[in-house]
This record gives sequence, C-alpha cells and structure tokens, in this order.
Amino acid sequence: MTTTAQSSPIPAIILFGSPGSGKGTQARLLQNCLRGPHISTGDMLRSHIQAGDSIGNQAQALIKSGRLVPDEMVNELVKQRLQDSDCQAGIILDGYPRTTNQAQVLLGFMQSFGYQAAVVYLMVDYEVIVARLSGRRQCPVCGTLYNMKTNPPKVPGICDLEGAKLVTREDDRESVIRERLNQYEVQTRPLLDFFRQAGVPMLEIKAADASPEEISQEICRSLHSAGLMLTTNNGSR
Ligand code: ADP
Repeated sequence: MTTTAQSSPIPAIILFGSPGSGKGTQARLLQNCLRGPHISTGDMLRSHIQAGDSIGNQAQALIKSGRLVPDEMVNELVKQRLQDSDCQAGIILDGYPRTTNQAQVLLGFMQSFGYQAAVVYLMVDYEVIVARLSGRRQCPVCGTLYNMKTNPPKVPGICDLEGAKLVTREDDRESVIRERLNQYEVQTRPLLDFFRQAGVPMLEIKAADASPEEISQEICRSLHSAGLMLTTNNGSR
C-alpha cells in the first residue's frame, strides 16, 4: 500500500447503523458481491481480548460494560490494518468510525491512502434492534451471527458453517445493550450529519423488513446505481 493518493480511488464502504442494525451480517453477505476485506473493530478488539494482550486487557472492561474504547486505540488498529495488501482493492468497514474524532481521522486515512468513502446507513427501528440483540448468538470460530427467533441456525445452538456451539456475547445482556444504544445515540448517530457536511455519499437502506440476503442485494443494487460499486470477485466493475 502506498501513501500517495492514486488516480483511481479505492472504494471504502462504511457500514453505519446502531448496534444490532445488521452491520456484521451485511459485511459478510456483501463479500459475495464486493471485493475487499471486512474490517470490524469489534471483532479486532475481541481477538485481542482472546489473545490476552495489552490492547485486549485495556478494552475488556469497557466492552463488557457497553462503553466505547479510546479513539486512539481503534484509530491505530485501523491504520495498521489499512496497510495490509488485501486492502488495495477496497474495504468494508463495520463499527468504525463511531465518534467524531474517529470520523475525522478516517477521512484523513482515506485521503492519504487514496480511498473514496461511501456510507451505507442501515435504518432499523429501536424496538426491532432491542429484540434482535437480546436473541443474538455468535459462532466463536467464524463470527457468523444468528438470532434465535428471526435468523436461527439449522440445528439449534450450532453454527451452520463450523459446527461449533454458538455463544451469547457478554455485551448482549440487557443492561449492557441499553448502554450500547445510549452510546450510539450520543456519540455515533451525530456522525450522519458529519458525513453529510463532509460530502461523503450516503445510501439509506431500510434494513428491518426483509431477509438479510434481500437487504444485501438491495445494498449491492444501490451501490451499483450510485456508481459506488467495488470491483467484484470476478474482477469486473
Ligand atoms: P455492535 O455494533 O453490535 O455494538 P461491535 O462488535 O461493533 O458490536 O462492538 C462491540 C464493542 O466493541 C462496542 O460496544 C465497543 O465497546 C467496542 N468498539 C468496537 N468498535 C469501536 C470503535 N470504533 N470505537 C470504540 N469502541 C469500539
């Protein structure tokens, strides 16, 4: 990865929405039609926690209580990740940026690494969000998300892809869910205005009343008609 802006900008899709809006699920499905890695700061932080390193130790208590980790920590993780060679065709960001500071820093990265950012805003009503988060289960191996009611695995409690026993994330407990939604309202939602003012293109996607696959197709169609499509897996635009 060079640090000079390239002539043809590299697409950077920012999946935006409250916790439980389907960012992680959509990031995985979008890889069927977009090229570029799924970069989830939540997943990165959880692997540091699993590794028991110093980033993990600093992040653990904050995540457990539903608060955000410090901006400098996630900004640095993303900066490092953007320098990996698989980011050269495009990237799909999930859960980053979440504060004005992170958004400002990200736009700086976009400029110096030669990316063109576009926001995909997943719009979901509050009651749906709470129902989704409280029934959520995750595969500890591949990270695939399920919901006991709305998107169950084929065999109860078992990941369709890995056969592993699904787990409930510690921050999916009710009191923690409330705090995460509060953090979103106070710190993250205002970024919609920030992006609009910065002139970052934004697609608004109704992300509640259709299946995850249908929503993913809708996102691909919208990106395509807005001329924001990443290079597809077979190499065409
Ligand atoms: P969700 O979007 O459902 O809340 P994530 O996996 O994206 O789930 O994030 C889980 C937790 O990780 C957050 O509640 C927060 O504590 C931490 N985290 C993830 N991304 C960021 C970020 N960009 N800035 C600060 N904290 C973050």
